[in-house]
Amino acid sequence: TLKRAYNFNAGPSALPEEVLVKAQKELVNFNETGMSVMELSHRSKDYEAIHNEAKTLLAELLSIPDNYEILFIQGGASLQFSMIPMNFLTEEKVGNYVLTGSWSEKALKEAKILGRSTAVAATTKETNYNRIPKLTELNVSPDDGYVHITSNNTIFGTQWKEFPNIENNMLIADMSSDILSKPLPIEKFSMIYAGAQKNLGPSGVTVVIIRKDLLEKTNENTPSMLRYDTYAKNNSLYNTPPTFSIYMLKNVLQWVSERGGVAETDRRNQEKAALIYNAIDESNGFYQGHAETESRSLMNLTFNLRNEELSKKFLQEAKEEGFVGLNGHRSVGGCRASTYNAVPYEACDQLQQFMTKFKKRHE
Ligand code: PMP
Repeated sequence: TLKRAYNFNAGPSALPEEVLVKAQKELVNFNETGMSVMELSHRSKDYEAIHNEAKTLLAELLSIPDNYEILFIQGGASLQFSMIPMNFLTEEKVGNYVLTGSWSEKALKEAKILGRSTAVAATTKETNYNRIPKLTELNVSPDDGYVHITSNNTIFGTQWKEFPNIENNMLIADMSSDILSKPLPIEKFSMIYAGAQKNLGPSGVTVVIIRKDLLEKTNENTPSMLRYDTYAKNNSLYNTPPTFSIYMLKNVLQWVSERGGVAETDRRNQEKAALIYNAIDESNGFYQGHAETESRSLMNLTFNLRNEELSKKFLQEAKEEGFVGLNGHRSVGGCRASTYNAVPYEACDQLQQFMTKFKKRHE
């Protein structure tokens, strides 16, 4: 096998080695076309097969019911922050946001820029976003246009373990950093969206899973490229989609499927995270997790050392040992290990060993 880094980047992040090797093999001559996927017409049969297979595989893996559409959109998860209020906050409707970190704040900010009515269903900012609110803390109303949550908070390292039942059936979730990491109760959501560059593939495509009845609710004054129904009516081929990103997405979905699907992926992710959380929990406070235990994420594991100086030393030595991407987000500092689906068990095991050795040396 190749010499691969222990890649703990938060996104873009590790891709499965098998997927990269497959893409390399197919790069200059895809399926005997004499072309790479990047050179195929997006209207060709060869490309369309890739596009449709990506949708089929995702629907199978996440057991997405027939009353949902899968859309491929560009502009990242960040464009969804704007498209959601543009499409759904018509007339008197209120967009209700649960604030659990910087990405939820950004989602709310875009609705405000558009001048739409907003509310905050709950926030955990007062404790520096170290936990997910309890379901009983949510202040929601059946009149809300939607309730928006961030299922996994990439920067703070918290994750929803249980999702609320929203009375008007309009729960929307940004699942950018934990989609495909575990089985999901899709029916609880009216819409789920995720930038691909963590668990799904390279950047360039955002996956949207949307209940079909929502497609009729779009504000008529919304430009075509910013309307969900434009994508739905045209199989996400209204204009040129990011063909290579969707091809890679298809390959990643095949890889997950071949390895036993999302239930098996969940089991592996729990095992990987446990290695590192154990190193934290058994360190007598040498490492301190940022998140409260019940809220901690299986995707982004955030922790601090005694002081900034020791954290710096930890990151420096980790880098020298070949670990990549362990710095906390620039807005919070500290350390963060992102253990997405494609991060192998071995990388987490190596990190745990490094943490134990580092502690012995610096206690
Ligand atoms: N939401 C979450 C939870 C994220 O982690 C990120 C990116 N790290 C975004 C939104 C923004 O995604 P993008 O860069 O695709 O716009």
